Amino acid sequence: MAHDYDVIVVGSGAAGLAAALGASDTGASVLVVEADKQVGGSSRLSGGHFYAAGTSVQKAAGIDGDDADAMFEHYMTLNQWLVEPSVVRRYCDLSAPTFEWLKNLGVEFLPEKVYRSGVGSVARGHPPEGGGERVIEVLHGQLGQRSVDFVLNSRVSGLVTDDDDAICGIRIGDDVATCGAVIMATGGFGANKELLRRYYPEAAKADNWTWYIGTPMAQGDGLTLGEEVGADLAGFNRGLLLVTPGFGRDLEVLLPGWLVMVNAQGRRFANETAPYTVLGGLIQKEGGQAFAIFDEAARRDAKPSPISQANWVHEPLAARAEEGRIARADTLAELAGKIGADPEVLEGTLARYNADCERGVDSVFFKDPASGMRALTTPPFYATELRPAIVCWTGTGLRIDADTRVLRKNEQPVPGLFAAGETVGSLHGDRYIGGGGSYGPCIVFGKLAGEQAADYVRHLG
Ligand SMILES: Cc1cc2nc3c(=O)[nH]c(=O)nc-3n(C[C@H](O)[C@H](O)[C@H](O)COP(=O)(O)OP(=O)(O)OC[C@H]3O[C@@H](n4cnc5c(N)ncnc54)[C@H](O)[C@@H]3O)c2cc1C
Repeated sequence: MAHDYDVIVVGSGAAGLAAALGASDTGASVLVVEADKQVGGSSRLSGGHFYAAGTSVQKAAGIDGDDADAMFEHYMTLNQWLVEPSVVRRYCDLSAPTFEWLKNLGVEFLPEKVYRSGVGSVARGHPPEGGGERVIEVLHGQLGQRSVDFVLNSRVSGLVTDDDDAICGIRIGDDVATCGAVIMATGGFGANKELLRRYYPEAAKADNWTWYIGTPMAQGDGLTLGEEVGADLAGFNRGLLLVTPGFGRDLEVLLPGWLVMVNAQGRRFANETAPYTVLGGLIQKEGGQAFAIFDEAARRDAKPSPISQANWVHEPLAARAEEGRIARADTLAELAGKIGADPEVLEGTLARYNADCERGVDSVFFKDPASGMRALTTPPFYATELRPAIVCWTGTGLRIDADTRVLRKNEQPVPGLFAAGETVGSLHGDRYIGGGGSYGPCIVFGKLAGEQAADYVRHLG
């Protein structure tokens, strides 16, 4: 049957643009539909780091011998095998070739910037020069050289199916555009409070502390539109939550080493300088709430630093204490009373910590003494609540197979429906693999979805 386009891509973030290129480069006619007035979505705002193994940039950085097998083993182990192995495997296998593809398109990655972006021992985080914005610029520019059509300011409101329940078009209000296949690349649902409550209750639990750092268009439309045509979802309660003291909307993802983090009882439970990829999860295990403890001397000495320009700085901290946002007391026992902790536990925790500081070693959690670790002995003492509440990305989404086909509950694909990027739920476990672990799969599965959708259309009767 004749259709307007072979492939329609819904959403123009990294996943959507990579999908459009993937499809277009196999000869398919492509339309990209974007709800916003510009292309790019959250991908434009993002650091755009790409988590990949076995790249030429790693080799140039002297990292030899890394490969898809090692990445797969680390990914699966870190997530206790609670992710879809076939989808993870495809990501690992395609991470390096797709990375090289992106690099050859014109995105620059410097060997000296490759870093250990997660909790693994191998450096797999590849930050692009110019961040996510540059990636979008390059992909968009490439599409400009091909005959790919774009419609902006147009929020897709429904999918059209034929008599065999195959996807054959999209709806925007009363308008319909027909196609052989649709690729859903609408991003996550971080900006949709209702969907956060439904699919990511850990994020919603932080109440009005919760805020999302990406595009307001991250409304989870891919999930809603997919479910309307029978798609299954995967990855409940997954995503990345960053820790905040809730003072304001400042994106500061690490805690300074000079404070002590305790749970509701008043006991330390982690290295305060743990990577942002694990810090939020550790606090979740303590009930979603922790407290940062410090003393007057630490507060006074808290200068703006690369870790914090806003939250953990002397004067703002004093102002917050004056406002009552930070508890203040002359003794640790009194401070414990103010935050509902056990005075004996808090005093014991600080006594042990202070003794460790004197010896220059964190004997329990191995915090690096050079991180600013110091004994807390000068009253008044302070305590302020911490919550994992900044939503970076969401991990619940459409369930796909390793060929990016969207699956129904009965394991059969929804014919003609493909998905890539944050709208997919099959890839993320309880623990974020590391910086680049969301953007990388967006590019990998975006390109793959484009190729797969175009191939599907070529084989339609
Ligand atoms: C500030 C920030 C920093 C980040 N840093 C990193 C990082 O360094 N590394 C990493 O791995 N991850 C990072 N992330 C996460 C990562 O950037 C995102 O997960 C990824 O960019 C999502 O890409 P996407 O293409 O799936 O979605 P998006 O880029 O959000 O694109 C989706 C697009 O779909 C459009 N859309 C939505 N609904 C519809 C509809 N119904 N009809 C038409 N269009 C629609 C949206 O307007 C949007 O343009 C970061 C995120 C943010 C916000």
